[in-house]
Amino acid sequence: MGIETYIDYLKNYDGPDVTFMEVCGSHTAAIAKSGITKVISPKIHLVSGPGCPVCVSPSGYVDRLIALARQPETTVCTFGDLLRIPGTSESLNEAKGSGASVEMVYSPMDVIALAKEHPDQTYVFGAVGFETTVPVYTVLMEQVESEGITNIQVLTALKVMPPVIRWLCDNGARIDGFIAPGHVSVISGSKHFEALSREYGIPFAVTGFSPKELVVGIYGLLRMWEQRQKLLAEGESLTKNFYPSVVTHDGNVIAQAKVEKYFEPGPAVWRGMGEIADSGLYLRKEYAALDAGSRGLDEDHKINKACRCDQVLMGKITSEECPLFGKVCSPLTPQGACMVSSEGSCYQRFLNR
Ligand code: SF4
Repeated sequence: MGIETYIDYLKNYDGPDVTFMEVCGSHTAAIAKSGITKVISPKIHLVSGPGCPVCVSPSGYVDRLIALARQPETTVCTFGDLLRIPGTSESLNEAKGSGASVEMVYSPMDVIALAKEHPDQTYVFGAVGFETTVPVYTVLMEQVESEGITNIQVLTALKVMPPVIRWLCDNGARIDGFIAPGHVSVISGSKHFEALSREYGIPFAVTGFSPKELVVGIYGLLRMWEQRQKLLAEGESLTKNFYPSVVTHDGNVIAQAKVEKYFEPGPAVWRGMGEIADSGLYLRKEYAALDAGSRGLDEDHKINKACRCDQVLMGKITSEECPLFGKVCSPLTPQGACMVSSEGSCYQRFLNR
């Protein structure tokens, strides 16, 4: 079938209303940029879930990074987006303005050069991300170990997808299917979502990021949803890979082994959702010396009580339904995490109004 046929099907769909959620910040940005919501049937609702790693990092994590950056001979390094995320009373950028030692870097590996150049300074990397990014941190760990570097640590807020998807399904998110994250699936394989689709009878479509790949993935998801009873009765999987150019069923087993070597699962706090069992990754005991104190974060605190990031992240409301959207909350004056990162759903909705 040509792409026009898929588009026609999505455009002319006239069945019951369906809601599909993407749980990948890059999908949030790609869907907004593609304009796809303007060509598909109004009965197909696309909502953004907790797929932006910066947006779901809780204020307690930012607070802890700031406390470290205020310690003598300690510098906190992290990505630009994280510098703007609100903590309980200030962001890392604001803390930097009042004397905290904070550096923006483009890669975790940049910390190696800094640590070698300033051996008397301890560098703490603020490590956020999902399954996609975790292997990069294992490369950092390997280099730190092999070179015997002693002045680098990480404060992790690393997270994995299946537990939060399970949490959404168990906590009233009315989702008919998931646009499964393409980048996460490169590492974890499409098998990552099979147990969830079986358990909840909900389809998952592993999808790419170009407009054409999005159309194919959403079409595939809709068709699985329409045929789900038959597929389930026939013992067919409701997880399908529509991104075969880079995603396999088993994923990157070498990267998975490295992650397994350094990290183990544990409870993690998600901004707006609270603590979710086994949804975080922490350095194993053998590597405790590299950890700047990542476990046991506090619950999350909103900086603006009217911010509804929690409901946006759960797909319960759209960004536009937040009373602050576009009024007091904009990318220049973000009141919540979803408006800070370029992968945040409020940020993308604001840019593509
Ligand atoms: Fe929070 Fe701003 Fe989004 Fe409202 S528009 S939910 S205040 S980030």
